[in-house]
Amino acid sequence: PVTLVWFRSDLRIHDNTALYHAARRGPVIGVFLHAEQQWREHGHGDNKLDFLCRGVEALGEALAERNIPLIQRQVPRFDDAPQALMALAEELGADALYFNREYPLDEVKRDQAVLAQAEHSGLEARALRDAVAFSPGELLTGKGDYYGVFTPFAKAWHKAISAERLEVLDPPERQAPLELSSSASQRPDYPNKSVDGRHWPAGEEAASDRLSRFLRGFPDSPAKRYKEQRDFPARRGTSELSPYLALGMISWRQCMQAVMAINDGSLSDGDAGLTAWVSELVWREFYQHVATGFPRVCRHRAFQRHTEALDWRDAPEDLAAWCEGRTGYPLVDAAMRQLVATGWMHNRLRMVTAMFLSKHLLIDWRRGERFFLEHLVDGEFAANNGGWQWAASTGTDAAPYFRIFNPTTQSERFDPEGEFIARWVPELASLAPKKRHAPTRDLLTDLDYPAPIVDHRAARERALDAFKSLSKDA
Ligand code: FAD
Repeated sequence: PVTLVWFRSDLRIHDNTALYHAARRGPVIGVFLHAEQQWREHGHGDNKLDFLCRGVEALGEALAERNIPLIQRQVPRFDDAPQALMALAEELGADALYFNREYPLDEVKRDQAVLAQAEHSGLEARALRDAVAFSPGELLTGKGDYYGVFTPFAKAWHKAISAERLEVLDPPERQAPLELSSSASQRPDYPNKSVDGRHWPAGEEAASDRLSRFLRGFPDSPAKRYKEQRDFPARRGTSELSPYLALGMISWRQCMQAVMAINDGSLSDGDAGLTAWVSELVWREFYQHVATGFPRVCRHRAFQRHTEALDWRDAPEDLAAWCEGRTGYPLVDAAMRQLVATGWMHNRLRMVTAMFLSKHLLIDWRRGERFFLEHLVDGEFAANNGGWQWAASTGTDAAPYFRIFNPTTQSERFDPEGEFIARWVPELASLAPKKRHAPTRDLLTDLDYPAPIVDHRAARERALDAFKSLSKDA
């Protein structure tokens, strides 16, 4: 009997829980369902879909080396998955279906429908925990609720983590070649455009190269300086692993094990750079729990209900200026241009630009959430939604509404030499480094760069008023 392994956001053969357990049963066939229409409805754009397609190809090659076929099929939407999988199982004579769980609401509903259909069809189906250390619901507050604040969640996470949950699983062995009666795989014919794929080579090898760049040679590696450097976008101070983690081309366990190997086996003590990095991986898991525990966030709703009454501005011109990197705030513009050109944005700048849109421009955070997803190669619902709601002060652990980043001060602190600005806003590169943060009007007369579209102080007051007028009882 053959086991079908349905790959989704776990495009790897190493340390893949579903693949590992399926291979122990006997021969395996991999399946990948391209649900383009559904992904586009979820807001994913060409950059992510291109990276995904390349990742699926890389997975197919890695599986082929082990004689495991990977069948790609197109289904428009998640609703089509149960039928497509049952038909494939029948066609291939499979008696079991294994997959790793995903946690946003639509994915959960899809998986429930698949499990129900499998039961109905007499197919053994197993949904496994892989993307997180603890299934949502396993870590709860003393009162039995989901955590809505990160710090106590992280404490509970560290207390409960065990060697067993951190174990990295072997890739499957080479199996005997299978005679497939199935018609050939259908390759998808999208996307039609994307950023230069060379920024983001896909697959496990590329992911492991990034992890090595970040850790290799420790303490002489970026990881050692992570805590000090991670906020400076001009330096490559972070791992740049987010696209790979989002699609599972590397597992969080592989990352944690790599840390433990150079940190005396610890995730919570020892080197400050390494433990700060581990904490970011725990943030990743936190937001996945939030998506399950508070499903309203998956329905475009605010986590903090009272903020839903906020009177967001309908300001298409301001929104366009933000999207196109011409707000007149150089760091904001540099960041937005980095996003559009590379499909990625540095974390500090995600916070700065998200706050600028939701506070300075008082534009609904959902507009920005959507724009990010459309461009991000690492676009991932839970982290993106969590980050946006944090910045807009509508979310879990939200920034208090009166804490509004001053984009100029942020620029002076985190891009002190204006290097990042010069790279992405070349119009300003001729200015002396210190003048790049907030070029004065006389400097701008000779430059093709706009004056600020809003005044920081006035915009700040407007945002404070809007938030103050909200009633907490709503
Ligand atoms: P590192 O600093 O090396 O961190 C390691 C890993 O930890 C990351 O790859 C990521 O998987 C995880 N991580 C780090 N910070 C966070 C965080 N704040 N929340 C959740 N996970 C985190 N991250 C995404 O993966 N996809 C998104 O769509 C996304 N959208 C965001 C939107 C906003 C408004 C904000 C403020 C943050 C968003 N983030 C998102 C989180 C964070 O900005 C990126 O994960 C990070 O910049 C990726 O760079 P890195 O891999 O070099 O991170």
